[in-house]
Amino acid sequence: MKPGGGGVVRTRVRTIPVPTPFPVGPVNVHLVAADPVTLFDTGPMTDDAYAAVAAGLAAEGLAVRDLERIVITHGHQDHYGLGARLAAESGAVLFGSRLDRAHFRGGRNTRALLDDLARSGFGLPIRAAVVLGVAAVGRFAEPFPPHTELEGGETLPGDGWSIEVLSTPGHTPGSLVFRLPEAGLLLTGDTVLRDITPNAIVDEDPQRPGERFRSLSRYFETLAKLRDRDRGETALTGHGEPVTDLRAHIDLLEERYRRRAFKIEAALARGPLTARELVTELFPRVKTLNVFLAWSEVTGFLMYLEDLARVEKIEERLLDRYRLVA
Ligand SMILES: [Zn+2]
Repeated sequence: MKPGGGGVVRTRVRTIPVPTPFPVGPVNVHLVAADPVTLFDTGPMTDDAYAAVAAGLAAEGLAVRDLERIVITHGHQDHYGLGARLAAESGAVLFGSRLDRAHFRGGRNTRALLDDLARSGFGLPIRAAVVLGVAAVGRFAEPFPPHTELEGGETLPGDGWSIEVLSTPGHTPGSLVFRLPEAGLLLTGDTVLRDITPNAIVDEDPQRPGERFRSLSRYFETLAKLRDRDRGETALTGHGEPVTDLRAHIDLLEERYRRRAFKIEAALARGPLTARELVTELFPRVKTLNVFLAWSEVTGFLMYLEDLARVEKIEERLLDRYRLVA
């Protein structure tokens, strides 16, 4: 590293673990205490999270009012919840992905979610519980005011450092990974985590309104892209520890997803099933609030297997079943 260049910026990067009310545990917020002072992700909208961010800034001799840029990896509440408040208090420029715009506005198409759950085979009590659960999570984020939208491909300049924006759809439609080339770092949000296999979440496709976002198919493309573009950087993740060997870790993630896909195919080998029946088969003890995540995962794999022409959907009058392609 040349003096005054990357080495200095890297020492100005601090990971701030911020508490969340979610089962995933703390979220990592990353601070670059250089010019301009930049925060990556914010934590959820809670007083505890705000205090943790403020303490992380204070450890670098900074305060919330010193923030100049707030850059968000994706539209989940634990990552962007405090963005509106921190931007209002500091005047920082707020950046979010265009394809996660609906998330940042706090909107979810409840009608579509209810219909989708019904066609998946869930009865009314579970459908109602899932919709209430999803709405409850929404309380942990303040909708964004107008902000600067990113698509991927941009470079945001800094003094002696820069941010390259990579579009990495999968975990959400608009997920972004940020490369800090001068610091030798990649900020991966929830797209790459070390100890957790990132969830596919059922979502509407922002580019095809009314259709489901094909989360896992897009995610496999993203993993291939990250492998191709790997420059040996350390990946600072959205939860937990960094990943130091990204290529080996991507191999591991792909292997885990492949094994899960085999499980679904093995279940379907005994005959056509609804998504609900697959949830019961794969997650027999899942509790109500986690039904959404379990169903999201099963649905992500079913769409992926459809895209590979290994599974096909049978549309009946009131529900969808899936069967293996002979
Ligand atoms: Zn997330």
